[in-house]
Amino acid sequence: MTDFEKSTPSNVLVRAEGVRKSYGLVEVLKGIDLEVRKGEVFCLVGPSGSGKSTFLRCINHLEKINAGRLWVDGELVGYRQKGDKLYELKDKEVALQRRDIGMVFQRFNLFPHMTALENVIEAPVQVKGQAKAAAKERGMQLLERVGLADKAKNYPSQLSGGQQQRVAIARALAMEPKLMLFDEPTSALDPELVGDVLDVMRQLAQDGMTMIVVTHEMGFAREVGDALVFMDGGVVVESGHPREVLTNPQHERTRAFLSRVL
Ligand code: ADP
Ligand code: MG
Repeated sequence: MTDFEKSTPSNVLVRAEGVRKSYGLVEVLKGIDLEVRKGEVFCLVGPSGSGKSTFLRCINHLEKINAGRLWVDGELVGYRQKGDKLYELKDKEVALQRRDIGMVFQRFNLFPHMTALENVIEAPVQVKGQAKAAAKERGMQLLERVGLADKAKNYPSQLSGGQQQRVAIARALAMEPKLMLFDEPTSALDPELVGDVLDVMRQLAQDGMTMIVVTHEMGFAREVGDALVFMDGGVVVESGHPREVLTNPQHERTRAFLSRVL
């Protein structure tokens, strides 16, 4: 049994303990402790440069942490523990951990030379080896779910930013992740396109997906969020239920930030 299993209830999907990350001499994450429960919408907010994206990237193996521990679904991210020793996972094992995590970025990152449907089925076919016909059928269901079944044959350049972002969500869901990471998914969108993307995320939350959402959309956090962490300067400044933190912030830094975004 790992330390995690001994000390963590099974309803926790992500746990960070003293997570530190530096780029060169600059420490960007200075000991992050947090827990994300299964089925929870966990909102991560804070000023630019506070380390939010870096934290998501550590969960998703795009960066390696320098100290601390990070678990997803009871497994150490990037490591295996035997007794007191940690062993780095091999590339293949890392790939297996990664495919359980979907990530949606600020920029939509669709493959420009593929249609919406081709974007959605790419990973299931290439990575999971799904049969193309089955992947297409499932892909169409996913496009339906994000309200874009009629755009299946469109290329990204023929879609609005909001539509591209919804395809990106469908593409992430196609791998049947147990965790979805959203890094400011609506920040690059024209204001009138934000609502459709948030609606898809709201639906996903209702369906029980565990989501970590970096966002400046405080309305979304308040309505849909189950937990909210305010980060600044690489540390968690405060956390609690979104309504609690947003209406009654305890720290001056949180108040200053909220007065700028609310
Ligand atoms: P946020 O998402 O909260 O705006 P980031 O996690 O993107 O913050 O960045 C936190 C800090 O880390 C910033 O000061 C940023 O300049 C720095 N940083 C992020 N990525 C790198 C990198 N690859 N190399 C060096 N510094 C980085
Ligand atoms: Mg960021």
